[in-house]
Amino acid sequence: LAKEAGKNCYHLFDPESDRKAQGHRQQLERLRLALQQGEFVLHYQPKVDLGDGRLFGVEALIRWQDPQRGLIAPGEFLPYIESVGTLERALGEWVLDTALAQLEQWLGSGLQVDMSVNISAHQLMHDDFADSLDRLLCRYPAIPRARLELEILETAAIADMPRAIVVMQRCARLGVRFALDDFGTGYSSLTYLRKLPVDTLKIDQSFVRDMLVDPDDRAIVDGVIRLAAAFNRHVIAEGVETLEHGQALQRLGCRLAQGYGIARPMPAEHLPVWLRDWQERAAWRQLAAQP
Ligand code: C2E
Ligand code: MG
Ligand code: MG
Ligand code: MG
Repeated sequence: LAKEAGKNCYHLFDPESDRKAQGHRQQLERLRLALQQGEFVLHYQPKVDLGDGRLFGVEALIRWQDPQRGLIAPGEFLPYIESVGTLERALGEWVLDTALAQLEQWLGSGLQVDMSVNISAHQLMHDDFADSLDRLLCRYPAIPRARLELEILETAAIADMPRAIVVMQRCARLGVRFALDDFGTGYSSLTYLRKLPVDTLKIDQSFVRDMLVDPDDRAIVDGVIRLAAAFNRHVIAEGVETLEHGQALQRLGCRLAQGYGIARPMPAEHLPVWLRDWQERAAWRQLAAQP
């Protein structure tokens, strides 16, 4: 009993965890303010078809433009945001709205691309998700709905698979498409994979990165590519950092690719300049010319 009490006291008065909790609250306040003041920005990373070199889509990736510290990566602030449901939904809606506005502009200017948006597990599972997506899409009547792809972490989808199936099917009926992100890290059962309305498997970048040196990773990449083919799904490799990765992927039958070797995520206004450069990158173009 004494030990129990001692333990409780320790937790109650631990200055260390008290400081941590306070730091957490302060950070959350700062992030709420950041959302109000428009300090979040989306960068866009191209997705290309190595078979013909075509830019077919972009993935929207959030950053925080902190006036003091500069551009901050999502890994540093999303965990805070995701600890508060209301904040997470508010930011999630801002991301979708901003990405759709950008897509509308690109489509209007003749750039035919798809837009991929990352959706967190909480966000997807919230009761109102499909309805609020529907309302949002109605504000962008010029956008063909199949141009929007929602990226869901494989691990998120399998955490509550029955619910994921229901929500994703509702969204799919709205016309949007789904990709399973970081695929290969969550051990999806094949039964479920068959039931999920998913168009695309995104091979996790950890497997892609090491596929040239690690036979196990190469086997996983190969396996996901075959799995996608067997289930009649598209497959895209993320984390394509070099031309050699591109070559190896194409040999294994994966034409769609995204990664630093092709382009880093960039502000929307840089995309036309990147596209011109990309069309002149001879080595990657030769890759496209290969059978
Ligand atoms: P993700 O969706 O798997 O996105 C891929 C991440 O890998 C991005 O990091 C991207 O910048 C990075 N990346 C792309 N190509 C390469 C490469 O060749 N090599 C390496 N080493 N990295 C590459 P980022 O932007 O820091 O985003 C990290 C994660 O944060 C994302 O992983 C996604 O899960 C999450 N995230 C980003 N934006 C959003 C958002 O708007 N909403 C939600 N819910 N999550 C987001
Ligand atoms: Mg993603
Ligand atoms: Mg990923
Ligand atoms: Mg990831």
